[in-house]
Amino acid sequence: MNMNSEGRPTRPEPADAVAESWTGNKALMLEEALIFEIGTTASTGVDVETPPAVRSRLGGLDRNREIGLAGLSEPQAVRHYTRLSRQNYAIDLGLFPLGSCTMKHNPRLNEKVARMPGFADIHPLQPVDTVGGAFELIHTLGEWLCKLTGMPAVAMSPKAGAHGELCGVLAIRSALEARGDAREVILVPESAHGTNPATAAFAGYKVEDIPATPEGRVDLAALEARLGPDVAGVMITNPNTCGLFEPDMKRISDAVHAAGGLVYCDGANFNAIVGRVRPGDLGIDAMHINLHKTFSTPHGGGGPGSGPVVFSEALAPFAPLPFVEKQGDHYILIEEETAEDHHASSFGRMVAFHGQMGMFTRALAYMMSHGADGLKQVAEDAVLNANYILRSLDDVLEAPFGKGGPCMHEALFSDKGFAEGFTTLDLAKALIDEGYHPMTMYFPLVVHGAMLIEPTETESKETLDQFIGALRSIVARAKAGDPSMHQAPFHAPRRRLDETAAARKPVLVWKEPEQAEAAE
Ligand SMILES: *Cc1c(COP(=O)(O)O)cnc(C)c1O
Repeated sequence: MNMNSEGRPTRPEPADAVAESWTGNKALMLEEALIFEIGTTASTGVDVETPPAVRSRLGGLDRNREIGLAGLSEPQAVRHYTRLSRQNYAIDLGLFPLGSCTMKHNPRLNEKVARMPGFADIHPLQPVDTVGGAFELIHTLGEWLCKLTGMPAVAMSPKAGAHGELCGVLAIRSALEARGDAREVILVPESAHGTNPATAAFAGYKVEDIPATPEGRVDLAALEARLGPDVAGVMITNPNTCGLFEPDMKRISDAVHAAGGLVYCDGANFNAIVGRVRPGDLGIDAMHINLHKTFSTPHGGGGPGSGPVVFSEALAPFAPLPFVEKQGDHYILIEEETAEDHHASSFGRMVAFHGQMGMFTRALAYMMSHGADGLKQVAEDAVLNANYILRSLDDVLEAPFGKGGPCMHEALFSDKGFAEGFTTLDLAKALIDEGYHPMTMYFPLVVHGAMLIEPTETESKETLDQFIGALRSIVARAKAGDPSMHQAPFHAPRRRLDETAAARKPVLVWKEPEQAEAAE
């Protein structure tokens, strides 16, 4: 034990009996109450003079009592939110191993460019002749996306991956309707991301599963057997959610086309193949690209996002408005369908304006700073890092599809071999104590107790080694049946919350404690 000159320990020891502090704070980990508990209606961070009386034009709808919001002074407000932010995990703090999320470093260059006043301060209702530069940026980004995917057209406005899926499926429906073909079924592999069947159902289709082979790929024979005049199309993720490339993608597309259907590809995992594979060469008709995953715009906690959709020749005429087009050396915004030009069959609009400008700016800065060769290296390094994880853990964790060769950008493990009663959830909670955000758990559904780990290309070997070390230690405890694991996390501000109750019965309105008790 290291001691200071007074014979006191300089660092905590594992065996230290830690006395609870009076405040509940643990040194730098500060407890923080809800703003309603610490704020009062009597305090405020700003003094505003009482406005002069004016005639109300609210038609009798004026508020008739105090609004009752909790007020804080400025330093109290700053501390409240800073303290809360420190209880969060962030990509700027450490490795974020969430599979299917591509939580990579967000280069600061992107942020600098997005904050340039010419981009940051424009307004979507500004006269179009004052925002030519923004249109050029959107158009240039669209061109990069078309080039990288080998597709002829792109719709920039969808605001997330799931929104892009809806865009693609609505274009498929418009194309089928235009040929008078009312097909009702969309086929989705059983390993699909939950948004795929949800999107198809939302667009009015019946969803049917396509089984997976024991190797974790789409069962081509089962797919071919199901194709027919009622099948509008398929939604396939490639690389798929088992972290594997679908080598039969071209054959899948050909079979679907031969049966009169269309092919949607979920491109959320594009990071694994960017610069290496062009989805357009695989016969895909529509694919969304998560700019917030592959092209490194910050995400998590619900936003922001951006999900441009690239289209084949067959679907391009049905793509949504608006479009930025280059005419001569000018960029114009096409907002209305016109009978003469190729937007006549557009299915309509997805959003009020033109898309997520801040995300576009970041994504283009990212692409241009990497260049074509850099983007290719992104895919190669992302796959290399995932395989390093796979091979560094597959002696202690079962990798159900790991024997068939390398994975793509993410490594998938099962809970096989854990002691009786020990689950993936226990492992994830123990990982929090090690200072990591847990990996994606229990997804994809085709693997028991699934753990899906996507390190991305931006992590160093040292970071990966530390993560692997932490996981190996926890896995050993799960296999040995260390009962303390059921209690983890020990060091987080909160322990095991009732996540089901929080999702099913969220408490969205704060009540005074007495009121809350009375209401029970
Ligand atoms: C992230 C993801 C989506 C959804 O994208 P959002 O931007 O979160 O709507 C869809 N499919 C897969 C495979 C994903 O990983």
